[in-house]
Amino acid sequence: MFIDTHCHLNYPEFSDLDGVLQRAADHNVKGFVTINCRLDDIPAVQAIANHHPSIFASVGIHPNDVSNHLKELSFHDIASTLKKALNHPKVVGLGETGLDYYYENSTKDDQQKSFEMHIDLAVCHDLPVIIHTRSAQEDTLAILSNFPTVKGIFHCFSENKDFLKKVLDMGLYASFSGIVTFSKSADIQEAAIYCPMDRLLIETDSPYLTPAPYRGKKNEPAFVYHVAQKIAELKTMPLDEVGQHTTHNAQKIFNVSFF
Ligand SMILES: [Zn+2]
Ligand SMILES: [Zn+2]
Repeated sequence: MFIDTHCHLNYPEFSDLDGVLQRAADHNVKGFVTINCRLDDIPAVQAIANHHPSIFASVGIHPNDVSNHLKELSFHDIASTLKKALNHPKVVGLGETGLDYYYENSTKDDQQKSFEMHIDLAVCHDLPVIIHTRSAQEDTLAILSNFPTVKGIFHCFSENKDFLKKVLDMGLYASFSGIVTFSKSADIQEAAIYCPMDRLLIETDSPYLTPAPYRGKKNEPAFVYHVAQKIAELKTMPLDEVGQHTTHNAQKIFNVSFF
């Protein structure tokens, strides 16, 4: 059994949600965390979580969208909206948040303040933070190191083994996506081989990042099966063992039972 710990089920690509869930079940993918990126999508994300017992949700603002939100809202407004959203029984995490210096849609300063605010809320509510990092390794780790008790997941892990060691030292998890299946991803594959099974998660980040051999097609949660297969191949481990470990880890970090 597999859990897709990071997908965006509120996106229009997934308007046929029952079909998406059926194809996932056909691949033994039976748990989902749908990840929120914008405050005005929170009601939609919560409604999707209500739709099915195996779907849970996070709430947060993607780093690329922070400056946009701040045109009309203060950090105080944002924090109180997020806090309210955490009362929903199926909201199990904060994010996705983090730092993305590759795109310049949000200023570094806004992204850093937003990241800190999400971590603060996560620590206060004893929830994991879902971390997006791109071209911002040092600053991401520097901010996290100010919160020694933070629980969290580096989603769509795309860094190397040295970075992974630092993530593990902080007690955090690494979630591998379809990127690990690409032939150009030698560094990420090396990190996956190194990653202990009790810190490893799998995700699709669908509708983005379709794994091999389906590149070019729309990604969906069923394809987390192929991420699991790649992890099994890299670690020379039976596929169902990968399923057992990653499912156990997902239930532990999100502190819920998906089934
Ligand atoms: Zn992301
Ligand atoms: Zn995402």
